Amino acid sequence: MFDSAKDISNLLKKHLNYREGCLNLIASENYSSDFVRNQLTSDFNNRYGCYETCHPENREYTGNRYIHEFEMATQQLMSDVFKGKYVDLRPVSGHMAGMSVVLALLEPGDMVVETALSDWGHGLVGPMCQISQLDATIQVRYMPFDENRSVDFEKLKQQVYELKPKLIIFGGSGTIFPEPLAQFRPVADELGILVAYDAAHVTGLIAGGTMENPLDVGADIMFGSTHKSFPGPQGGFVISNRADLIEKVGNTLSPSMVTSHHINRLPALAASLLEMKTFGAAYAQQIVRNTKAFSAALEEKGFALCGSKRGYSETHVVLMDAGNCEVDMPIAKYLEKAGVLCSDDFSGESAEVRLGTQEVTRRGMKEEEMPLIADYIKRLLMDKEDIETVREEVEMFSRQYVGLEYTF
Ligand SMILES: *Cc1c(COP(=O)(O)O)cnc(C)c1O
Repeated sequence: MFDSAKDISNLLKKHLNYREGCLNLIASENYSSDFVRNQLTSDFNNRYGCYETCHPENREYTGNRYIHEFEMATQQLMSDVFKGKYVDLRPVSGHMAGMSVVLALLEPGDMVVETALSDWGHGLVGPMCQISQLDATIQVRYMPFDENRSVDFEKLKQQVYELKPKLIIFGGSGTIFPEPLAQFRPVADELGILVAYDAAHVTGLIAGGTMENPLDVGADIMFGSTHKSFPGPQGGFVISNRADLIEKVGNTLSPSMVTSHHINRLPALAASLLEMKTFGAAYAQQIVRNTKAFSAALEEKGFALCGSKRGYSETHVVLMDAGNCEVDMPIAKYLEKAGVLCSDDFSGESAEVRLGTQEVTRRGMKEEEMPLIADYIKRLLMDKEDIETVREEVEMFSRQYVGLEYTF
């Protein structure tokens, strides 16, 4: 139990020290710079900035003179970095951003196609339908993938001609190749399908320019998180070049889904947007180089990698098959014992492991460090070396990389 301020700060210090001794390969996390983190302690932490529907000028509270100016300036910066005219920063997370898009764009009875959990989908509409009222009004189907974990465009085309969904949501939690947005655009126009892009994972790569901007190649609307490959504060966003769509989203967010939108995120988001404007390209390019070097090293150690016939991956994500590594618990839990943090296939349907290079890249690692990480994983999963021995080495190694690059 906490009795004093010291107890609280001590536990936080323990956490930080523990995590600095871990090698973080969780693809959905990142490490924000001090420049960004220091912005999370402003007066905004205690203020309400709510506004009605999609009219930021109609703030519900008084005392919002500079809050309004701040939110508009942050929206503008977001517009500038992600090349979309209209922005809504009220969703406090990526999941809520996705829900607001789905609920805004669908009418009762409409169908949506998204990525299945077994193809590393996030699980947006599927889990929403666990709420019985939503299950009764929304139909959900899942898009086809090929053996490289890439959307199978020909099969998708057949699927949508048959099902005629109202909305398709591209993007997932294990995106290794860009989705066929440009190819899909004429099909969407012909059948009147709205195209959304869930950028939660790849936001940093879009900002850095290694991934083509979905809004430029066929998406009507994009949403996501600001804290995965994009190294900002935890939060969500929606962006579009279509005023009608962003208006529907705004009207859905408020008053139904959000009142306080936790405006303490805004200064940190603005800081990370500035950071990415300056360093984003170098950061994203190094992520992709690290992903390829890491994948090649894992393959050389004998692991089977998704996408190996297509250059492994074009993002921060590496999908590795650990099917032949017999351990008596989920792989991520086993690696955690040695301080290597990553994710299993959440659906439990495969022995795939998801590893991300974004945080180690920010910590300053380059291609030459990637075989060293691959070797720890091989020693743990293939050689079944003593966990404690590897744990000590992983800790010593990780503590050499507690600095941060790609920041002012
Ligand atoms: C993480 C994730 C989300 C949800 O984002 P949160 O910010 O965690 O709520 C949505 N979609 C995808 C594809 C994700 O990976």
